[in-house]
Amino acid sequence: MSTASEVRRIALSEPWLHGSEGRYLQECLDTNWVSSAGPFVREFEERLAALSARQFAVAVASGTAALHVSLIVSGVQREDEVIVPALTFIAPANAVRYVGAHPVFVDVEPEYWQIDVTELAGFLRRGCRLVGERLVNHETGRTVSAILAVDVLGHPVDADPLRDLAAEFGLALIEDATESLGAAYKGRPAGALGSVACFSFNGNKVVTCGGGGMIVTDDEAAAARARYLSTQAKDDPVEYVHHHVGFNYRLTNLQAALGVGQLEWLDTHVAAKRRIAERYRDAFSRVPGLTFMRQAPWASSSFWLSTVLVDAAAYGMTSRALLGHLAETGIESRPLWEPLHRSRAHAGSPRRVCPVAERLYDQALSLPSSPGLSEDDQRRVIEAVLRSASA
Ligand SMILES: *Cc1c(COP(=O)(O)O)cnc(C)c1O
Repeated sequence: MSTASEVRRIALSEPWLHGSEGRYLQECLDTNWVSSAGPFVREFEERLAALSARQFAVAVASGTAALHVSLIVSGVQREDEVIVPALTFIAPANAVRYVGAHPVFVDVEPEYWQIDVTELAGFLRRGCRLVGERLVNHETGRTVSAILAVDVLGHPVDADPLRDLAAEFGLALIEDATESLGAAYKGRPAGALGSVACFSFNGNKVVTCGGGGMIVTDDEAAAARARYLSTQAKDDPVEYVHHHVGFNYRLTNLQAALGVGQLEWLDTHVAAKRRIAERYRDAFSRVPGLTFMRQAPWASSSFWLSTVLVDAAAYGMTSRALLGHLAETGIESRPLWEPLHRSRAHAGSPRRVCPVAERLYDQALSLPSSPGLSEDDQRRVIEAVLRSASA
């Protein structure tokens, strides 16, 4: 018997680097283009625009920076309210606060774990009223100005009804596609929803550039504004003259070089993640108490993180106990995010009930999903989960 310390650790989601990344990085060093300008930045932008079927792309330092700037160029004002799903990584809610606005958390639906469009429609119709052009939240008196739609775990949101609701109520629509690069909705690529969409290239995402983000849009003025704001809002090519408060959100050529190298493997990474999900689904299909994440008939998910629901009564232990068991054998797993309507960081947000997000938080466990995960390592994960079930 080997102990946990001798067994190789299996990570939840780690980068997979293939070789061309190194060559491109060396090219940056050889040419001295290492900072916030250079040919790889432009190439990275062009590739992302093409991948998301958009006309314009603006590279920025992170997915969070992309969300921040997207909210500004979408016209969200201080003291406005922005719709955010209750179950997501916290970054989109934080970005809403950066602009002085307030997130309104809407529950997710139990099938695919995406923002519940019926629930949202109910809030917009009954919880708000139109005052002239403004949609006003009855409870708070504040203007609801945008929907920040997150493709949770790489599964696309139900885009068509969301777009209809945004149009009906005059709301800006922003897609947080930070987990869904490579996914598609009815054949349309992730990042094609809304006036503006955002990507992330953090180390745990589908492809990485170490850290980075991208804003994509078909709106030329929004793209220009995003570029202006993310590069310190400089108003003269030579003189240091600024008419607005901008941000230093630029992506470096080094990061973009890594990103361009990674994009050559995007299809491989997405195919690997889909295969990993398939194997988990097969392995757990007859285990009492385990329910693997589902994919809607209209969706092609990136399966960013393969996630399973653990019903403690039927499985024999809670999701957190299973997390502990797996950790003992060197396998990293993670629960989903604390539902944001319960987050102390956003305690001032309008109070709403989100029972589905709470149940998923209680039951969900994300399992190792690195694109480079070997079949042998995945078998180790699966066997550990099956052993825990019969323990
Ligand atoms: C990762 C992530 C972000 C933030 O991306 P960073 O590049 O880490 O800033 C934003 N939204 C969601 C849903 C994410 O998963």
